[in-house]
Amino acid sequence: MTAAAAVAQVRRPFSFAAQTQSASREKLSVFSYADVKLTGGPLRAQQDRIHASYLALDEDKLLKVYRQRAGLPAPGEDMGGWYDADGFGPGQVFGQIMSGLSRFCNSTADPATQAKVRRLVNGFAVTIDSDNYWYPSLKASTSCAAYTLDKITIGLLDASRFAGVSEAVDIAQRCIQGSIKYLPTRPYERVEAPKQAVDDEPYTLPENLFYAYEVTQDEQYRELARKYLEDRHYFDPLSRGENVLPGLHAYSHVNALSSGSRAYLVLGDQKYLQAVQNAWEILTKTQSYASGGWAPDEAFFVPNKGWLGDSLDKTHSHFETPCGSYAHLKLSRYLLRITADARYGDSLERVLYNTVLGAKDPRGDGHVFYYSDYHSSARKTYHSDKWPCCSGTLPQVVADYSISSYFRSPDGIYVNLFTPSEITWKVGNVPAKLVQTTAYPESDSTEFRVEIAAPAEFAIYLRIPGWLQKPAQISVNGKALSVPAEPGTFAAVRRRWQGNDTLQLQLPFSFRLEKIDDRHLDLTALMWGPLMMVALDPLLAVAEKSLSSPSESTGLKATPFSPLTFQLSTSPEKLRFKPFYQVQEEEYTTYFRRT
Ligand SMILES: [Zn+2]
Repeated sequence: MTAAAAVAQVRRPFSFAAQTQSASREKLSVFSYADVKLTGGPLRAQQDRIHASYLALDEDKLLKVYRQRAGLPAPGEDMGGWYDADGFGPGQVFGQIMSGLSRFCNSTADPATQAKVRRLVNGFAVTIDSDNYWYPSLKASTSCAAYTLDKITIGLLDASRFAGVSEAVDIAQRCIQGSIKYLPTRPYERVEAPKQAVDDEPYTLPENLFYAYEVTQDEQYRELARKYLEDRHYFDPLSRGENVLPGLHAYSHVNALSSGSRAYLVLGDQKYLQAVQNAWEILTKTQSYASGGWAPDEAFFVPNKGWLGDSLDKTHSHFETPCGSYAHLKLSRYLLRITADARYGDSLERVLYNTVLGAKDPRGDGHVFYYSDYHSSARKTYHSDKWPCCSGTLPQVVADYSISSYFRSPDGIYVNLFTPSEITWKVGNVPAKLVQTTAYPESDSTEFRVEIAAPAEFAIYLRIPGWLQKPAQISVNGKALSVPAEPGTFAAVRRRWQGNDTLQLQLPFSFRLEKIDDRHLDLTALMWGPLMMVALDPLLAVAEKSLSSPSESTGLKATPFSPLTFQLSTSPEKLRFKPFYQVQEEEYTTYFRRT
């Protein structure tokens, strides 16, 4: 097969029989990466940088621990850090790197990316023993058997689904079979874990075991997934509305909510949906900073005791950014699919723009951005260890911007993100395209143009963000339209669309202050529309009136040559604010005291 033909095959829609089963439990469905093209703006720019960075990784180095354990020639340097045979997480991010590259492959149809995924899959396959033992070291199969299996499973299944490496499904099944005797007999929390595996995360396994079931239709994977659903300490009490989060490791338990979401979709048990929705409320209402990030020092805490405010000067590890945002965006998409509730889209946007979009680019040697720091006078830094968990989730979450942008309903298209992009789908049998043009978030307006061969009736649903303080304006072909557009809902624009019809949306940005928690009422962050603004100065106190009146002479003024940078003219020293995502090397302060 030529490279072009192989990539064309990758771009063919992929369908599972099992998808129809869970489809009845979804109001919306996700598009494939291939259906959505980000065409510009900061989201696409980060996708391009991260894609290039991971495409350049040395394959011998990535495969080295696996080859060494199999007794095969293992050229190249050690990866170092967490990745080595006796590191904190031997070979762990290998699967996630394959997953991220596969998603980029599906988005871009890039033959070089597809070829790299194929080489990684085949290079890995020859290291698997005849009894299907595949772990990169004894430490991997004794201290993190479940975690490492979870990551290799997603890597191989994504390689098949999104990069067209069809043999990867069989390899994934061999890995699952070879793991079974190393997995615990039931899911457990860290407090009850055996001492050699205190950091393992068996409660995250079900999501990707359900994925294996959907791909293969083999019921043994569905039953294995069911076995690792953490009902006793997590889903059962959460479904009853009990807050069991305090003290738990944050990222892995938000990730486990995706297992609960998938359990609802596959098994149809309402308990899991109730548990996940209750956890979502606890997470977003009691555990989150203005950025949407959560859990200082990677742990949840008892609400209403002022822990968030207290955390500001107690730690520099406020949000585990690539892993946390990966779990948060994924969970938001599950809940959007199931409910079509715009609040989940709002939360997805908040976390995307204010956490992971602001991550420093990877250095290429394994050092990546890990924690967002909300301490005063902070700087963005790299994690001191090479190849931590966050080096695995970074390419996955950034590739996922595409499938977070639009969703499909039986009667039309849901627009979730405002970013330059194109989406292709069919209305009946008629191919259609929606082209979005915008400078958002530098601009607060966006325009959509319909491309369709014959007029057709369908709805375009626009997310009207909950943060709006002035009404959204919607126009069709330049004429103002009066449709319900309450903040926190999707506004439906339903009509018979013709080719080149346009739809305009304006979402007036304004400043607002968000307090950190109820025990620190004067500690606030400054928001501008969806964006968390940080001060490029170690400021500690700002007069509230100067922040709440941006249009008056006393307030924040846009600077003429730096989009989204605002200056406080009344302050004796010139205070500047810019979005967290735009901060590079500057020192910044996220929270300040309002006077
Ligand atoms: Zn991480």
